[in-house]
Amino acid sequence: MTETKHELPLKHIPMDKLPSKGLPYPQDAKIEYRTYTFGETKMESASSGSAVRAVKRALNCIKTTGMSRDKITILDLFYLGVLIKMSSEGASEFTMPYICWNCGDENEHKFSQGDLDFKDIDPSVESLPMKVEMKDGKILEFSPMTAKQYIDLYSGKFNECFPKKKPDGVAPVATLVKNLPFKQAYDYLTGVTDAEDRELINEIDKMLMHEIKPLTFKCANTLDDDSVCNADLSLKLEGREALLKPFRGRESSVKSRIFYGNAPEHKPNRTRPTRVPTGGGTEQATS
Ligand SMILES: [Zn+2]
Repeated sequence: MTETKHELPLKHIPMDKLPSKGLPYPQDAKIEYRTYTFGETKMESASSGSAVRAVKRALNCIKTTGMSRDKITILDLFYLGVLIKMSSEGASEFTMPYICWNCGDENEHKFSQGDLDFKDIDPSVESLPMKVEMKDGKILEFSPMTAKQYIDLYSGKFNECFPKKKPDGVAPVATLVKNLPFKQAYDYLTGVTDAEDRELINEIDKMLMHEIKPLTFKCANTLDDDSVCNADLSLKLEGREALLKPFRGRESSVKSRIFYGNAPEHKPNRTRPTRVPTGGGTEQATS
């Protein structure tokens, strides 16, 4: 049986189930996604992969009606990428390997789609774009970074705009400005000196932020004295890493997972337990 990508079944995601709540999109727009094809998952695991390519690959699985696919925000796409991966793995429960900051040992945390929670766009934002007047009278219109802008920014399209020829801290904020060409927005923001203006821009950046909250749980590892570690852990699911790597499978290095707890101020001086070999892994050195 051969099947083209376009014939793969699509799942509809209601706007209010997205981290952005659909605020950046037209009211009648519709977003659907399909799973990765076997070829797509194999292609990715056979290569080291780049974030831009992972974003493009996730975007390829999305069908939009009533709006361009390019308008999807990058933060919604990170979430959709997680859903696409979940549906591609065809299970209702998923496993995320971690290394505990406290006991230093590996374990796995199980979660399901229902465990995912969002930090939404600030509830005070009623519609987009947000229009603000700067101290010099300039009107700027802000809306979240789109997947297309992310691809352009991190594939080097705007590198000539930056003094260091690669995106800096101002660059992602400049993508939020929708009523100026990128270079003008970048140059304008770079030159802002007024303290209140700077604070305003930071505030808008925060208000537009929307993402999956990290999964928080306690380490279930048993220590040498048979007690349970219980350290607070927070596992970040979204972002480039989550798009790039499958949840399951030791073939992606467990070390590359993001694992951090609440400010490990003191490293425990405990003798490390013998490490259980991960077994048959083809772990890649990623650093
Ligand atoms: Zn632990």
